[in-house]
Amino acid sequence: MTFSRDFICQKFGEFYRNPSTDIPAPGAMYQREFAFLLFKERAMVRHTSVSKISKLKSFFSESVPSDVYHSCAYYENPEADMAKKGWLGADLVFDIDADHIPTSCDKIHDEWTCGKCGFSGRGVTPESCPSCGGVKFDTKTWPCERCIASAKNETMKLASILEEDLGFSGRDLHIFFSGHRGYHVHVEDDAIKSLDTMARREIVDYVLGLGLSVLEGRDKADGSPKKSSGSFLLHDFGWNRRIKMGMQKFILNATEEDLRRIGIKQSVKGMLQNRDVIATRYIEENRWTGIKGVGAGVETWLKIARHVKDLESAKIDTVVTTDIHRLIRMNGTLHGKTGLKKIEFPVERLPDFDPFKEAIAFKEGTVKVSVSSAPEFRIREQMFGPYKNKTVELPTAAAVLLVLKGRAEVVNE
Ligand SMILES: [Zn+2]
Ligand SMILES: [Zn+2]
Repeated sequence: MTFSRDFICQKFGEFYRNPSTDIPAPGAMYQREFAFLLFKERAMVRHTSVSKISKLKSFFSESVPSDVYHSCAYYENPEADMAKKGWLGADLVFDIDADHIPTSCDKIHDEWTCGKCGFSGRGVTPESCPSCGGVKFDTKTWPCERCIASAKNETMKLASILEEDLGFSGRDLHIFFSGHRGYHVHVEDDAIKSLDTMARREIVDYVLGLGLSVLEGRDKADGSPKKSSGSFLLHDFGWNRRIKMGMQKFILNATEEDLRRIGIKQSVKGMLQNRDVIATRYIEENRWTGIKGVGAGVETWLKIARHVKDLESAKIDTVVTTDIHRLIRMNGTLHGKTGLKKIEFPVERLPDFDPFKEAIAFKEGTVKVSVSSAPEFRIREQMFGPYKNKTVELPTAAAVLLVLKGRAEVVNE
């Protein structure tokens, strides 16, 4: 191992050996598969099971994992091969990661390179390489505060859909900062444990707002195209309610530019002049005609409704939720790409949760590092960087973050 890696391994070891480190046991831990990535071996150790949290903690202290995962699934034999595990059920798990959310700054701090042909670009990593179609990429990303805030915004929309539309209580929702660039939401409830992949896919589609008949532009009864805007009715439940409220918000705040950007060309001025009446009479009371100067037909309202659906749906990673054998990072453990903790907090705390305060694991000491490049970042109240080819003495948490992100090396004095 290099000097920097030794340093990281040593810091992770200190964290896991510290008696005040709190690592909560997941529910029914004896039925879960555990998996580890160790600093020394660099290979994933899978198909292990642990019955007691104290045993797990002493294993962490001795072997020092860079990353710890457990299954969202419950098994009869967690140690057996996949085929012989005996699947008993799984938590419903959502992953919201800045990797999947386009932001105004991702082109500044994120890069990807195709592992097959070397083609590279900036911003969100594509699903396949535009040059050769390859699907493996080397990525260089940054846990940017603005990007994490946009992931949080998606998480708030998800929590609202789960609670208000699907009827889960706040007590059943476990909200976590992932330790890197996003949030996890786990639903542990007997009602969802036995859901298969198809059923979970239905939940995913609902969260994304896919296949909503109200947006199809057809009359339900006979499937014929809508002729008049009078038939564009929105009721007060589920997605209809979300679209109704979203359309009101959109209309009341829209600029001419906003309307044109979503493809509305006619009666723009009339719509803006009559926005208050549209919000109440049209959208709220479902009376879609009769305002002079607003000659918009149903296609126009559908354009707004579809745009609002995009704004109101939650950008979850669909693969994670539908995979009933998924391994997920263990709560309370460190993320091997940042040195930040995965940490749980109550759903009500989402708006003011601060990962750069609350997920910090290393609170003492300073380390001298030579930084190749790093954007500006914050640890608790203190700002650091941007740095370019600079040697600086940083608090341990900042140094660990830069080393793990490949932006710095520890200075060997
Ligand atoms: Zn390629
Ligand atoms: Zn960003």
